[in-house]
Amino acid sequence: MSGAHPEAIPAYIGLGSNLGEPRQQIENALELLGRIPDSRLVARSSLYTSAPFGPVEQPDFVNAAALVHTTLGAWSLLGHLQKIERVQGRIAGIRWGPRLLDLDLLVYGDHRIDEPSLTVPHTGIAERNFVLLPLREIAPELVIPGLGQIGDIEVNELVPRISRIE
Ligand code: ADP
Ligand code: MG
Repeated sequence: MSGAHPEAIPAYIGLGSNLGEPRQQIENALELLGRIPDSRLVARSSLYTSAPFGPVEQPDFVNAAALVHTTLGAWSLLGHLQKIERVQGRIAGIRWGPRLLDLDLLVYGDHRIDEPSLTVPHTGIAERNFVLLPLREIAPELVIPGLGQIGDIEVNELVPRISRIE
Protein backbone atom coordinates (compact mmCIF):
# COMPACT_ATOMS: atom_id res chain seq x y z
CA MET A 1 0.00 0.00 0.00
CA SER A 2 1.38 3.42 -0.80
CA GLY A 3 1.52 6.24 1.70
CA ALA A 4 1.62 3.99 4.73
CA HIS A 5 2.79 5.78 7.85
CA PRO A 6 4.69 3.74 10.36
CA GLU A 7 3.09 4.37 13.71
CA ALA A 8 5.02 6.52 16.15
CA ILE A 9 6.49 4.60 19.05
CA PRO A 10 6.71 6.07 22.54
CA ALA A 11 10.35 6.02 23.58
CA TYR A 12 11.45 7.01 27.09
CA ILE A 13 14.90 8.44 27.56
CA GLY A 14 16.86 8.82 30.78
CA LEU A 15 19.28 11.75 31.14
CA GLY A 16 22.11 12.15 33.61
CA SER A 17 25.04 14.53 34.08
CA ASN A 18 27.49 15.30 36.86
CA LEU A 19 30.29 17.28 35.26
CA GLY A 20 30.55 20.82 34.02
CA GLU A 21 27.18 22.50 34.48
CA PRO A 22 24.91 19.49 34.94
CA ARG A 23 21.61 21.37 34.91
CA GLN A 24 22.60 23.25 31.76
CA GLN A 25 23.80 20.02 30.15
CA ILE A 26 20.46 18.37 30.81
CA GLU A 27 18.51 21.37 29.52
CA ASN A 28 20.65 21.45 26.37
CA ALA A 29 20.17 17.72 25.86
CA LEU A 30 16.39 18.07 26.18
CA GLU A 31 16.50 20.78 23.55
CA LEU A 32 18.53 18.49 21.25
CA LEU A 33 16.15 15.57 21.87
CA GLY A 34 13.46 17.82 20.43
CA ARG A 35 15.45 18.07 17.20
CA ILE A 36 15.95 14.36 16.49
CA PRO A 37 14.52 13.65 13.02
CA ASP A 38 11.19 11.82 12.68
CA SER A 39 10.65 12.33 16.39
CA ARG A 40 8.76 14.67 18.66
CA LEU A 41 9.55 15.55 22.26
CA VAL A 42 6.24 15.00 24.05
CA ALA A 43 7.10 15.26 27.73
CA ARG A 44 9.97 15.97 30.10
CA SER A 45 10.28 15.52 33.82
CA SER A 46 11.51 17.91 36.46
CA LEU A 47 15.19 17.84 37.27
CA TYR A 48 16.35 15.64 40.13
CA THR A 49 19.61 15.53 41.99
CA SER A 50 21.02 12.21 43.10
CA ALA A 51 24.07 10.89 44.88
CA PRO A 52 26.50 9.01 42.64
CA PHE A 53 26.04 5.30 42.26
CA GLY A 54 28.90 2.82 42.41
CA PRO A 55 32.49 2.83 43.57
CA VAL A 56 33.88 6.01 41.98
CA GLU A 57 33.96 9.15 44.13
CA GLN A 58 32.39 11.96 42.07
CA PRO A 59 29.96 14.89 42.18
CA ASP A 60 26.19 14.47 42.52
CA PHE A 61 24.18 13.85 39.39
CA VAL A 62 21.36 15.78 37.83
CA ASN A 63 18.79 13.41 36.29
CA ALA A 64 15.66 13.72 34.20
CA ALA A 65 13.50 11.65 31.86
CA ALA A 66 11.85 12.48 28.55
CA LEU A 67 9.24 10.99 26.26
CA VAL A 68 9.78 11.12 22.52
CA HIS A 69 7.33 9.85 19.92
CA THR A 70 9.38 8.50 17.06
CA THR A 71 9.13 6.59 13.84
CA LEU A 72 12.85 5.80 13.99
CA GLY A 73 13.92 2.27 14.78
CA ALA A 74 15.45 1.63 18.19
CA TRP A 75 19.01 1.43 16.83
CA SER A 76 18.65 4.58 14.85
CA LEU A 77 17.26 6.41 17.89
CA LEU A 78 20.19 5.11 19.98
CA GLY A 79 22.56 6.46 17.32
CA HIS A 80 21.02 9.91 17.70
CA LEU A 81 21.31 9.74 21.48
CA GLN A 82 24.98 8.81 21.18
CA LYS A 83 25.55 11.65 18.79
CA ILE A 84 24.06 14.10 21.29
CA GLU A 85 26.33 12.63 23.99
CA ARG A 86 29.34 13.14 21.76
CA VAL A 87 28.36 16.65 20.78
CA GLN A 88 28.18 17.55 24.45
CA GLY A 89 31.69 16.24 24.95
CA ARG A 90 31.19 13.22 27.10
CA ILE A 91 34.34 11.87 28.70
CA ALA A 92 34.28 8.21 27.78
CA GLY A 93 36.04 5.36 29.44
CA ILE A 94 35.19 5.19 33.10
CA ARG A 95 32.31 2.84 33.74
CA TRP A 96 30.04 4.26 36.46
CA GLY A 97 32.31 7.32 36.32
CA PRO A 98 31.64 11.04 35.99
CA ARG A 99 30.14 12.27 32.77
CA LEU A 100 29.00 15.41 31.06
CA LEU A 101 25.98 13.66 29.66
CA ASP A 102 24.54 10.15 29.69
CA LEU A 103 21.50 9.37 27.57
CA ASP A 104 19.89 5.98 27.96
CA LEU A 105 17.06 4.51 25.96
CA LEU A 106 14.94 3.24 28.83
CA VAL A 107 11.85 1.93 27.07
CA TYR A 108 11.01 1.66 23.37
CA GLY A 109 7.30 0.90 23.04
CA ASP A 110 6.66 -2.69 24.01
CA HIS A 111 9.86 -3.90 22.35
CA ARG A 112 12.38 -6.09 24.12
CA ILE A 113 15.94 -6.11 22.81
CA ASP A 114 18.66 -8.05 24.51
CA GLU A 115 22.06 -7.18 23.05
CA PRO A 116 25.08 -5.70 24.81
CA SER A 117 24.99 -2.64 22.58
CA LEU A 118 21.24 -2.18 23.07
CA THR A 119 19.29 -3.62 25.95
CA VAL A 120 15.68 -2.45 26.11
CA PRO A 121 14.11 -1.99 28.60
CA HIS A 122 17.35 -0.60 29.99
CA THR A 123 18.93 -2.74 32.70
CA GLY A 124 18.37 -1.66 36.26
CA ILE A 125 15.35 0.61 35.81
CA ALA A 126 13.67 -0.98 38.82
CA GLU A 127 16.72 -0.64 41.08
CA ARG A 128 17.74 2.89 40.15
CA ASN A 129 15.60 5.51 41.80
CA PHE A 130 17.30 8.23 39.71
CA VAL A 131 15.78 6.55 36.64
CA LEU A 132 12.52 5.44 38.15
CA LEU A 133 11.41 8.69 39.79
CA PRO A 134 11.72 10.98 36.76
CA LEU A 135 10.20 8.27 34.55
CA ARG A 136 7.25 7.77 36.88
CA GLU A 137 6.67 11.53 36.98
CA ILE A 138 6.05 11.68 33.22
CA ALA A 139 4.47 8.22 32.84
CA PRO A 140 2.64 7.18 36.00
CA GLU A 141 0.69 4.51 34.11
CA LEU A 142 3.60 3.10 32.12
CA VAL A 143 3.82 -0.65 31.73
CA ILE A 144 7.47 -1.60 31.37
CA PRO A 145 7.98 -4.81 29.38
CA GLY A 146 9.18 -7.51 31.75
CA LEU A 147 8.74 -5.32 34.84
CA GLY A 148 5.05 -4.45 34.83
CA GLN A 149 3.25 -1.33 36.03
CA ILE A 150 5.68 1.41 37.03
CA GLY A 151 3.45 2.30 39.98
CA ASP A 152 3.91 -1.17 41.43
CA ILE A 153 7.70 -0.93 41.55
CA GLU A 154 8.94 -0.07 45.00
CA VAL A 155 11.15 3.02 45.17
CA ASN A 156 13.76 3.63 47.82
CA GLU A 157 14.37 7.39 47.94
CA LEU A 158 17.33 7.09 50.25
CA VAL A 159 19.70 4.85 48.32
CA PRO A 160 21.09 6.51 46.31
CA ARG A 161 19.81 9.69 47.96
CA ILE A 162 17.63 11.63 45.50
CA SER A 163 15.51 14.77 45.55
CA ARG A 164 13.59 16.87 43.10
CA ILE A 165 15.04 20.26 42.19
CA GLU A 166 12.26 22.84 42.04
P1 ADP B 1 25.44 3.20 31.62
O1 ADP B 1 24.52 4.10 30.90
O2 ADP B 1 24.89 1.83 31.88
O3 ADP B 1 26.04 3.82 32.85
P2 ADP B 1 27.27 3.69 29.44
O4 ADP B 1 26.40 4.84 29.05
O5 ADP B 1 28.70 3.95 29.67
O6 ADP B 1 26.69 2.92 30.70
O7 ADP B 1 27.11 2.53 28.40
C1 ADP B 1 27.17 2.81 27.06
C2 ADP B 1 26.96 1.55 26.29
O8 ADP B 1 25.72 0.95 26.63
C3 ADP B 1 26.91 1.83 24.80
O9 ADP B 1 27.91 1.07 24.20
C4 ADP B 1 25.54 1.34 24.37
O10 ADP B 1 25.61 0.66 23.15
C5 ADP B 1 25.14 0.41 25.49
N1 ADP B 1 23.70 0.30 25.72
C6 ADP B 1 23.02 -0.87 25.88
N2 ADP B 1 21.74 -0.66 26.05
C7 ADP B 1 21.55 0.69 26.03
C8 ADP B 1 20.40 1.51 26.16
N3 ADP B 1 19.18 0.98 26.36
N4 ADP B 1 20.56 2.85 26.09
C9 ADP B 1 21.79 3.38 25.90
N5 ADP B 1 22.94 2.65 25.76
C10 ADP B 1 22.81 1.30 25.82
MG1 MG C 1 24.41 5.17 29.08
